[in-house]
Amino acid sequence: MKKVFLDNQQIHIQEIEEPVIENDSDVLVEVSYSSICGYELMIYRGQASAGSNYEVGHEVSGVVLKTGKSVTDFKPGDPVVVSLNTHCGNCSMCRRGQYNYCLNMHVESNNMRERIVCPQTALYHLHDLSLREGCLIEPLTMAMCCVNNAKPSAGDRVLVLGGGAMGLLILKLLLLYPVQDVAVAEPNPRKREMALSFGATRTFDPYADKYMEEVSKFSDNEGYNIVIEASGSPASAKISPYFVSRGGRLVFFGLYGMNFELSLNLFSLYWNDMHISAVYPSTSYYVDAIKLAPRLKLQELITGEFPFEQAEEAFREKDTGNHVKVVLNFKGE
Ligand SMILES: [Zn+2]
Ligand SMILES: [Zn+2]
Repeated sequence: MKKVFLDNQQIHIQEIEEPVIENDSDVLVEVSYSSICGYELMIYRGQASAGSNYEVGHEVSGVVLKTGKSVTDFKPGDPVVVSLNTHCGNCSMCRRGQYNYCLNMHVESNNMRERIVCPQTALYHLHDLSLREGCLIEPLTMAMCCVNNAKPSAGDRVLVLGGGAMGLLILKLLLLYPVQDVAVAEPNPRKREMALSFGATRTFDPYADKYMEEVSKFSDNEGYNIVIEASGSPASAKISPYFVSRGGRLVFFGLYGMNFELSLNLFSLYWNDMHISAVYPSTSYYVDAIKLAPRLKLQELITGEFPFEQAEEAFREKDTGNHVKVVLNFKGE
């Protein structure tokens, strides 16, 4: 069988041995779809360091092929999504019930391959959700975590900076709340168009003249109750506090590389009573994400699909910036 991996900004496909069930609680899964994550694109572009032979694939759906002896919750033929993280259950954080902060977290980010073996605790039933949309569950859990940190309440004015895959997914979620409006700032015209078609109230081009002025004017110069920085651009992160209203909340969704530092005026933070947070992955959202997904029409976010043998072309396409989600089809329906 074959796997896809990244080596020095080059995509390779390599023949590897079939995985085998070693523990009674293991499950063998045939991968159906794997979506390319923004972080993987950063590594492909050389914007994040990952060393050589970086294995890719943490946004994955598939079908159960075989189960270990003690597996009771899954059977062959079940459509599943594979989670990125599995906690150990034994460390001090797990014993406090804070599984998210497990000290021995097992991270499964090498699943761009035809078949995988993983513990049953890493799997979630997809139920009626298609396998194609199933590979977008992991990003959806991140978007849910982001929106929960932003705590939207009725009548809020919201600004999302960045209309890529995550910005648009966050937009779709925000529109389920009774917010006053959701404005999206995004340089790519195709993505601005998509934001409007999903229901954004207004879009802005960050490279336009008077961008800051226009964005402020749309909030009656009062700022936005919620600003979500989802572009991953350090330049956008730097100006994001400027758009937050007094008492507002600022959430940094993006990954800005390991060494990016933001300078903040702490008096203005105090004076504006601004609340700032980031978004850390949590497996606790998977069950609800799968149930919520049908309301979000996730398939609208998939703008490119390639057979996995054309992974190199898929990454190249994703790199053009014109795509939202690009998925690799391993053995999809
Ligand atoms: Zn991801
Ligand atoms: Zn643990």
